[in-house]
Amino acid sequence: MTGIPHLPALLPRYVTRFACTQDKCPDTCCSGWKVNVDREAYARFQALPPSPLQQQLKESVQPEPAPTGDQDFAWIRPAPGTLRCPMLEGGLCGVHKRLGAEGLANSCFSYPRFTRAVGDELSQGMSLSCPEAARLALLSPDAFEFLDTELPIRPGMVTHLPLSGGLSQEDASAVRVFCLQLARAREVKPWARLAVLGMFCEQLDALLQRGGGAATRALLEQFQSQLSAPGLLAALEATEPHHAEQAAVFAPLLRTGLGAPPSPVQGRVLAAVAEGLGGAGEDGRGEPSLLRERYERGVARLPAALAASAPLLLEHYLLNELFREAFPFDRASPFAHYLDVVLRFGVLRLMLAARCTGETLPDAAALVETVHVFCRRYQHDPQFVREARAAFHARGWDVMPRLFPFLRA
Ligand code: SF4
Repeated sequence: MTGIPHLPALLPRYVTRFACTQDKCPDTCCSGWKVNVDREAYARFQALPPSPLQQQLKESVQPEPAPTGDQDFAWIRPAPGTLRCPMLEGGLCGVHKRLGAEGLANSCFSYPRFTRAVGDELSQGMSLSCPEAARLALLSPDAFEFLDTELPIRPGMVTHLPLSGGLSQEDASAVRVFCLQLARAREVKPWARLAVLGMFCEQLDALLQRGGGAATRALLEQFQSQLSAPGLLAALEATEPHHAEQAAVFAPLLRTGLGAPPSPVQGRVLAAVAEGLGGAGEDGRGEPSLLRERYERGVARLPAALAASAPLLLEHYLLNELFREAFPFDRASPFAHYLDVVLRFGVLRLMLAARCTGETLPDAAALVETVHVFCRRYQHDPQFVREARAAFHARGWDVMPRLFPFLRA
């Protein structure tokens, strides 16, 4: 790819195996949501010599009325009466076919890749809203071996996360490594890993707010020693799960998500989830006792479903989100970032549990597609995040340790 700089970056092994499945993709990213066009690509498209593709781009690429910057300078209006990009030809991209990858707008060139710079350290992960990325990330045992390599990265693709609160580059990297190691600490139950992560982020928050980044190393050592001593985990073990609250808070959120009508695969998964929850998913309201009963049945059977067909699914989902978003540095504060991760984890667990309420347990394909559809419908949707945060706050769950009964399955 001429003209695109190759930069050193850290990435998980599954990203090196990724190839778009194009016309074989069950849920193409070229349909069902808004596709942004960056300012440079817009100018490139405008300057193309006359051709059927040039005409199509001229008709469908519209300047954004109120862009927030260069990356959403314009957008692609779907083909009339559809949700699909008009440049899609039999599952293949007409721009890519005629102009090569270099001709693509940044969003089309990069998706499902997400590149972040914490200070001057680059890392690239993928969104599991792409079915192929989800399959590779969630099922391959070595998916999260991390590699340093050179990647074609356009400057417009990088989200820059500046260091703050006196945090050094070295300590920021140590914090990221600690969070990833905790997410894959198999001697600790998955919900307890999340609980400890929350306690760590809450204390890191306080440290950075008072400019004490220099004390981060001491905080890391404190948590590493607490994790190796029995006290902390034994105390967590005494937590009772609050299933009724878990179901009551998260089922209503299923009705938010992408405004666009679901694609066939999304529709099928959302219908299976709604049925699994006794109808609660459709309008977000359902008979509370039935919802609770169904959720409890599903959440109790989920470990068996995972053990049988996708033993690393939840751990790899969490690892992917933490790595892709350069956790805990991609929100206003580490604890705010933590709450967003937990909110999504809660709704995803509810959807997976809903698929485990029937007679037979879901297989790997059904579990993976549930993650992909969750990510496609909710991950990129500001309304979902807003409503989920409000639901948490309303119940006072956005503070540790009130969160523990929510985390425990
Ligand atoms: S969702 Fe993924 S596999 Fe499907 S068309 Fe897009 S990049 Fe390719």
